[in-house]
Amino acid sequence: MVELITLDKYLGLVPPHDPTLLSNAKDLLLKVNSLLQEIGITDVVMTSGYRSPEYNTAIGGAANSKHTTCQAVDLSDNDRIIGMRLYTFQDGLISRGLYCEDLDYCIKKNGSKWVHIQSVAPKSGNRFFIPYAGPPIRK
Ligand SMILES: [Zn+2]
Repeated sequence: MVELITLDKYLGLVPPHDPTLLSNAKDLLLKVNSLLQEIGITDVVMTSGYRSPEYNTAIGGAANSKHTTCQAVDLSDNDRIIGMRLYTFQDGLISRGLYCEDLDYCIKKNGSKWVHIQSVAPKSGNRFFIPYAGPPIRK
């Protein structure tokens, strides 16, 4: 299997020591890397991996962000190739127990786009879910 996202890269400069978090990260990457391979993605830029609680707070991440538990990853997706392939191939998400944020919510004000994939179900249980109560951010 092509390891598009490595564990070292995902954990970053301040990796957690909690064995549960390390196990979560390995599980997430195994699933996400195999999914990306299945949908034909050969090159990817990770924009956010593991976040320590302190770092997550500093960047204004959600208080219960799955990035702090090694259960979420963000991938750059400016052309929306990854997002649209995942949207049309939801079986790949379903079979791996993966979930994505609704693509409309993964757009920065400057127009840059990403895909947020997580290995735990959101409250709604929706495969593509709305991450917060506010409206999508559009450029
Ligand atoms: Zn994310």
